[in-house]
This record gives sequence, structure tokens and C-alpha cells, in this order.
Amino acid sequence: MRRTYTVRSVDRDARTLAIDFVVHGDEGVAGPWAGAASAGDRLTFSGPGGQYAPSDEDVEYLFVGDESALPAIAAALEALPEAAYGRALIEVGGPDGQIPVTAPAGVEVTWLHRVGGDGAAAADYGVPLVEAVAALPRPTGPVDVFAHGEREAMKKLRGIFHEEWGMERRALSLSAYWARGGPRIAFRRRSGSRSARSSTREVTSTGAGVKGVVAVPRAT
Ligand SMILES: Cc1cc2nc3c(=O)[nH]c(=O)nc-3n(C[C@H](O)[C@H](O)[C@H](O)COP(=O)(O)OP(=O)(O)OC[C@H]3O[C@@H](n4cnc5c(N)ncnc54)[C@H](O)[C@@H]3O)c2cc1C
Repeated sequence: MRRTYTVRSVDRDARTLAIDFVVHGDEGVAGPWAGAASAGDRLTFSGPGGQYAPSDEDVEYLFVGDESALPAIAAALEALPEAAYGRALIEVGGPDGQIPVTAPAGVEVTWLHRVGGDGAAAADYGVPLVEAVAALPRPTGPVDVFAHGEREAMKKLRGIFHEEWGMERRALSLSAYWARGGPRIAFRRRSGSRSARSSTREVTSTGAGVKGVVAVPRAT
């Protein structure tokens, strides 16, 4: 059973890699596996696959995503040049879902919550993200967009970026990382992104959090 995850970080000296799993309930295989994982558990890693690379041009950056894309956004923010500018809109359930991220001073990080602090009913997945992007002024210069998350939200964002902002496909790294009520979605590589060689390895969980394509042993 294969699922695609982001390599959040690699420690070459310790020969470990970190993967941040969203634990989203009892359904599926990867989330429940991660929720119950303990030190010594094994899974098979295949990858890495496509890689996001910051633009070589002078562009404004826009990162948009939910928890599933948070590891990718956090890693991309860390890889930005110091002079980079733009914003990151990250949707999580509530304040507890926020994690420390390191971004250049010119990149404003905004956390969006599905659950309001005033006890308001929880918004559906992707709604805060789509509303936040829709409220942004239409950019006047070039923008490098990295947007990943729930499928329906990504469809709506694609509409905004293409139809309202007039962005070209090559300026967008946008894909569904998961789908409501459905099985996993195949990774769609950003056009023009670099592809690394692939290999398959068995890795052992250290209990510190796990990140490529992982083949998770199905519970019996
Ligand atoms: C390139 C890429 C990188 C990714 N990186 C990460 C990562 O670093 N960390 C990470 O957690 N995920 C990441 N994802 C998303 C992850 O692959 C999916 O969430 C996957 O569907 C989880 O598999 P599963 O077996 O847990 O659930 P599935 O069997 O796919 O689905 C079971 C049920 O759980 C629901 N579900 C699945 N994912 C979520 C979710 N995130 N939130 C709420 N409900 C969900 C589905 O709607 C379905 O009802 C990435 C996806 C891609 C394509």
C-alpha cells in the first residue's frame, strides 16, 4: 500500500529522514499507521520524486496549503533566498496545528484556522484557504505559486490563479495532495521541476516523525 509524503528534512550524519504525517482519523493506511507507529516499526521508502525549486527570477512568492502540504511549505520556505518576499497562507484545524516555520523576513506567514476561536462552527477543509486567496489583490508582477492540499480546494484555487489572475501553468506548482472521502491521489509533478533518481529502501521509524513515497504495511 503506497502513499506519497514529503521529506521534511534529512540528517545525513545520523542517516535519518523526517516525515510529518497528518493523523486524520481511522480511515486509510498511512495516517492510522503513523498514529500508532512506534520506534522500530518498518516501512519501505521509494524516492525522492519531483522537487520544488524557488524561481531564479525576481518574483513574489505565494505558498498556499493545508496540513498535508505544511511539510513541503515549511521546507520550501527554509530553502528561499534571504531576499525573497511574498506570503504563505497555511490552513490548519486551530492554533494547536501551528508549528514553528522559518521564513525570510519578507515572507509573511499567515495561519488560517478551520475552527474559529469564538466557538464558531468549523469551516470545511480548504474553505479558509480559498477565501484568503480570493481576498488577495490581483498581483501586478510575476508570482511563483506553490499550492497543494485538498482536491476541491485546489480546483477552486486553480480557477482563481488561471482565470482571475491570468497566470500561466508554468508559474504554478498546484496539485491535490488528498481528496475528501476518497483514496489517495497520484502525485502530479510540477512542470519544469527537477526529478531526482528513484530508489527503494526500507526505513525504520525512530518515533520522531517520519517523510517520498512510503509503502505502509497494511494492518491485519
Ligand atoms: C507530493 C505529495 C506530498 C505529500 N506530503 C504529505 C506530508 O508530508 N504529510 C502528510 O500528512 N500528507 C502528505 N501528502 C498527502 C497524503 O499522501 C494523503 O493525505 C494520503 O491520502 C494519506 O493516506 P492515508 O492512507 O492516510 O488515507 P487515504 O486512504 O488516502 O484516505 C482515507 C480517508 O482519509 C481522508 N484523508 C486522507 N488524507 C487526509 C488529510 N490530510 N486530512 C484529512 N483527511 C484525510 C480521505 O479523504 C479518506 O476519507 C502528500 C501528498 C502528495 C501527493
